[in-house]
Amino acid sequence: MKALAKTKAEPGIWMIEAPVPEVSHNDVLIKIHRTSICGTDLHIYQWDEWAQKTVPVPMITGHEYSGEIVELGEGVEGFAVGDRVSGEGHVTCGYCRNCRAGLRHLCRNSIGVGVNRQGAFAEYMTLPAYNLFKLPDEVSYDLAAIFDPFGNAVHTALAFDLVGEDVLITGAGPIGIMAAAVARHVGARHIVITDINDERLDIARRMGVTRGVNVARESLVDVMAELDMSEGFDVALEMSGVASAINEMLEAINHGGKVAMLGIPPGEMPIDWSRVIFKGLTIRGIYGREMFETWYKMASLIQSGLNLEPIITHHFAADDFEKAFALMQEGSTGKVVLNWD
Ligand code: NAD
Ligand code: ZN
Repeated sequence: MKALAKTKAEPGIWMIEAPVPEVSHNDVLIKIHRTSICGTDLHIYQWDEWAQKTVPVPMITGHEYSGEIVELGEGVEGFAVGDRVSGEGHVTCGYCRNCRAGLRHLCRNSIGVGVNRQGAFAEYMTLPAYNLFKLPDEVSYDLAAIFDPFGNAVHTALAFDLVGEDVLITGAGPIGIMAAAVARHVGARHIVITDINDERLDIARRMGVTRGVNVARESLVDVMAELDMSEGFDVALEMSGVASAINEMLEAINHGGKVAMLGIPPGEMPIDWSRVIFKGLTIRGIYGREMFETWYKMASLIQSGLNLEPIITHHFAADDFEKAFALMQEGSTGKVVLNWD
């Protein structure tokens, strides 16, 4: 089969011929139809410090995917050949305390698809059946290929009640934009999103934000005055990982505000802790998606009319992966989808 793999410990990724993986006990074999490129895949491509210490070579990359089951391993129940699926990219241990409590997203031993085990940028992939999510008919393969980052957005956006609230989202990357769309769908009032990239803010506007703010040119405080928001935001979703964005957010949030943090800062990051204390803020870190509550919520959001289509801005055949990676690298796209059919 064709697969996109890290075969050398140096920048780049290469299309290789690899054996179709064998299906063991409790696993399924998936014929991959679509994949999508994540920031993590860019780190692996660039072979940065994180990738060098995390990813063993050779490794088939990719963890955002959709496809159909073509073979069931021994002992698999609840799935059938032909089922349309996407699935969770964290393979959890099942024996740690959190796993045993049903809090699999907090597993301390989780293994990453396309990071620590062979990934989805391939014609076929095996995965424990436990990790799969069966797709309702309303969810296309294109859309299902972005369920992993959509799950990050849903997990973060639903961390706190947004009904009737004013919501600040810092960072209009694909995940920030999808979180904005979810906030709109579930009934937030003002949704303000910040970025330094106008193209991304345009996509966010198309997906229903009240106001996109280019913080390189405009001040958030002015925008709050414009929207008659004298007291500040009720909830903030941090989706940039950038220190200045986080400090702006701490300034703009109201006393008693709630903050969900998804963006990953590149290293240690100083913030003004006195703001957290004097404002009595609640801060919650968000990792991955809840298994599988977030997945059910994602499907239901789509089935109840949430339109995510504008966030997929580019499609490529898998063979054109170099073009797709180069475009992602520029940082002005929404999600970029690769077709493996
Ligand atoms: P992304 O890098 O595409 O988006 C980040 C956005 O922040 C970019 O559009 C960038 O222009 C913007 N930005 C830069 N400086 C800014 C500033 N001063 N103010 C506001 N915005 C600014 O990433 P993404 O794929 O949308 O993911 C969002 C974040 O979530 C990333 O930090 C990513 O690493 C992280 N992430 C976390 C998890 C998790 O489980 N916690 C999972 C996936 C991604
Ligand atoms: Zn575990």
